[in-house]
This record gives sequence, structure tokens and C-alpha cells, in this order.
Amino acid sequence: MAERAVRIALVFPALLGTYGDGGNASVLAQRLRWRGHDAEVVDVAVDAPVPDQADLYVLGGGEDTAQTLAVSRLSDGTLARAAAAGKPVFAVCAGFQILGETFLDGRGDVHPGLGIIDCRTDRLDGPRAVGELLVSSPVGLLTGYENHGGRTVLGPAAAPLGRVGAGIGNGDGSVDGAMQGSVVATYLHGPALARNPALADHLLTAVVGELAPIDDREEEELRRERFAAIRKANRAPWRRQWRPSARSS
Ligand code: GLN
Repeated sequence: MAERAVRIALVFPALLGTYGDGGNASVLAQRLRWRGHDAEVVDVAVDAPVPDQADLYVLGGGEDTAQTLAVSRLSDGTLARAAAAGKPVFAVCAGFQILGETFLDGRGDVHPGLGIIDCRTDRLDGPRAVGELLVSSPVGLLTGYENHGGRTVLGPAAAPLGRVGAGIGNGDGSVDGAMQGSVVATYLHGPALARNPALADHLLTAVVGELAPIDDREEEELRRERFAAIRKANRAPWRRQWRPSARSS
């Protein structure tokens, strides 16, 4: 019998698609296909329920109003059940914020999130965080760009995805993102999984098990180019804090 296609649910691309994060779902599907697996991306429409039967869930970034509308359509518990069942959920920026306990919109109103990640989001003290973001994570260096006004503080049940080498990340330039069970969240756009194939494979391994290596030379070239751009931009706290070439710390 043929193996069933791996189903990747892309949650509300019309609301959470402002920053091109829908590409994360395409990357996950393509990396499966390159290895001979069947894969299907299910775009979930705003007026449709998030499917219970997906194997993996992807949420992207969006504007304050769009993310508030998105969270109001996600209260049926599907994502919480998926996370409790150990299915990977990958969320970026607004997607990250709505998986937390609460988030603040641009007007200062507090909104309840889905409570899947132990974190709370308010607003950055300084200007909006915009620019390249470099993160040292358990799957290696991650590159992407950030564009957010929110500041996210993690509670004890959530671990950061990694340490920030350049940029702001969750809010003070020390850490970015969250990992809690099978849920991985970050402020990295890019799309993050196009720039960071190791992170894509980390999510896929939880679904299909060990993955055969594939030719990532083009992705590696893109990464080298981006690391060089970050070095050139010399974005704080790059200088004072950390360099990717450093062996320790
Ligand atoms: N609206 C949110 C903020 O500004 C999320 C932005 C985003 O998804 N890039 O913090």
C-alpha cells in the first residue's frame, strides 16, 4: 500500500501571510518530496476549521489586526490537541505571539492567546525591531529577518529556540523564539525554513523519522551570503555580544 501523503496545514495564509512565511510550508513539502515522500500543503481558509488530521501545522506573521482575527478563529482547540499529541507546530512572529498566553495589539489592548506556549507578548520599549536576525540554536546558526513591535517574555515551561547573535529576537537581544514540546516558534522570517534547512529537517524528523541527506549546496550558498550581509550591517548587539565564528560562548 502506498504511503499516505504527509499533510502540512498552513493556517490562515490570508491573515498570517504578510511576511511570506507561507514559504515554510512549501519548503517542508518539497524537502519531503526530494526524499521520495508524498506531501500535501493544505491552505486553511479563514472561514474553515483547522483540520485535525494534519501531521504538521505552520503559522506565519501578520499585522496586529489580522493576528487578533486569527486567534478568534482558532479557539476550537485543534492546535492545542495537535501540540499535545506531539505533532510539530511551527509558528513565526504573529503566529508565535498568538500561541502564547496573551499578546498586546498596537493600541495597547491585551488579547488572550491560545495558551500553547508559556509566554506573554507586550510591546518593545524602543522602535520596531526591523532587520537581519541571527540565532544560535540546537540545530545550528539560524538566519532570517525580523519585523515586529512585540516583545515576548518566556515562562518557565518554554525554552528559547536560541541565543541572538545579531538583532533583537524576543525583545532584548538575548534570546529568540520558543521551544515547548513539539512546538517551535521564532521571530525569524525569510522564510525561515528556506534559509535554515536544518530547522526544517528537525520538524520533519518528528513526522517521518530519520531523513536521508539531500543536496543543500544552494541553501548553503544563500546562508553564506546572508551571514556576510549581517556582518556587514554590523547590527547591534552583534559587536558587543557574539560572533558566529567564535568557538565558545
Ligand atoms: N503584529 C506583530 C508585531 O508587530 C507581529 C508582526 C509580524 O508578524 N511580523 O509584533
